[in-house]
Amino acid sequence: MNILVVNAGSSSLKYQLIDTATDVVRAKGICERIGMDGSLIEHKQLIKGSKVKLESPMKDHADAMKLVVKYLTDAEYGCVADMNEIQAIGHRVVHGGSFFSGSILMTEDVLEKLELCKEFAPLHTVAHLMGIKGCLDAMPGKPQVLVFDTAFHQTMEPEAYMYALPYEYYEKYGLRRYGFHGSSHRYVSAEMAKLLDKPVEETKIVTCHIGNGSSISAVKGGKVMDTTMGFTPLAGVEMGTRCGDIDPAIVPYLMDKEGMTAAQVNDVMNKKSGFLGITGFSSDSRDLEGAIAAGPSDPNYEKCLLAVNILKHQLKKCIGAYAAIMNGLDAVVFTAGIGENSASLRERVCVDMEYLGIELDKQANEKAVRLSGSAKISTDSSKVAVYAIPTNEELVIARDTAAIVESL
Ligand code: ADP
Repeated sequence: MNILVVNAGSSSLKYQLIDTATDVVRAKGICERIGMDGSLIEHKQLIKGSKVKLESPMKDHADAMKLVVKYLTDAEYGCVADMNEIQAIGHRVVHGGSFFSGSILMTEDVLEKLELCKEFAPLHTVAHLMGIKGCLDAMPGKPQVLVFDTAFHQTMEPEAYMYALPYEYYEKYGLRRYGFHGSSHRYVSAEMAKLLDKPVEETKIVTCHIGNGSSISAVKGGKVMDTTMGFTPLAGVEMGTRCGDIDPAIVPYLMDKEGMTAAQVNDVMNKKSGFLGITGFSSDSRDLEGAIAAGPSDPNYEKCLLAVNILKHQLKKCIGAYAAIMNGLDAVVFTAGIGENSASLRERVCVDMEYLGIELDKQANEKAVRLSGSAKISTDSSKVAVYAIPTNEELVIARDTAAIVESL
């Protein structure tokens, strides 16, 4: 089945056309600056290798989707003769609240529930709704499926997802841990389970999705027991510009000391913290690793080392904690931009973890960058298997969409 995977942001829209019979990505692209001057589409046809990048007015997501349809069916840049060759659309949706524990066919009722998710993720949800309406406009009648970043985490027990705040806030506002990057944790934990020589029900896996945004999950028997992100994607470990977990009392303290509003503190915690906040110069792990490699003579060396060591320390704690709640550990998986490419971070995390049964194969780890598939980075005698596995959230979305449409 040819599935068009759509990831709609407020002013951008990324897409991939995936053939689920072969898992081949036939075309991909991005529309940027939607609703602004200088709207731009960049489209790549991956079978022939042709590509196009041009400015074209797009006043809204419907205009963007019409342009996507034009290029997907174009004689030179397209990969289908007409839109009948595309069976359905799968949308990445960031927040499904407690309404959605799995992917679902878009209906009026589903859209009404999605409207309610604006409470939790206003910017993202509004963008997704625009993307869905844009597809309705450009491809009327085409089935649309929603795949939620939060859905995989809905298996958590209340003891994992409840915060110890007055219970009424959970009832009134849905204040609880939701977790994010669910499609990624689901994909890499399933790939890892296949590599382990035991039934999925018996597997105990920690998945570390470490990119600009990072989250770690404990996946026992194919189900999430706990995850580091919470009510929002701000929680958990240190990230590119996000602080992760801090003492919540710091928020009113900073508001008082710096005369900031809650929104300003929120902005600091989301956009000016993490790697960027500690180093004062970059949120990109490659810059940090560059300064560390340059040595103590580099003016950024100390702060970069500190930023990376904070993340290392948090990851070690998290893996240990998750092994404790799962009563054991079969495998640790690293994925996403940093997890797939930073051998040095993986080494920092995995050394001195013998007590837990982790034994890193340093050479295999060094080689495991720019992955084309799963790479084992633990020794053969390691009790816990450690892998770097490239994530593929789009494939999860395409497969779920195809499965739902096939069952109609
Ligand atoms: P997002 O959360 O935006 O999807 P990614 O998963 O693409 O983020 O991860 C982005 C991060 O991955 C950046 O910090 C980038 O520096 C890092 N990264 C990408 N390639 C490498 C590499 N070769 N070595 C170290 N870090 C890398």
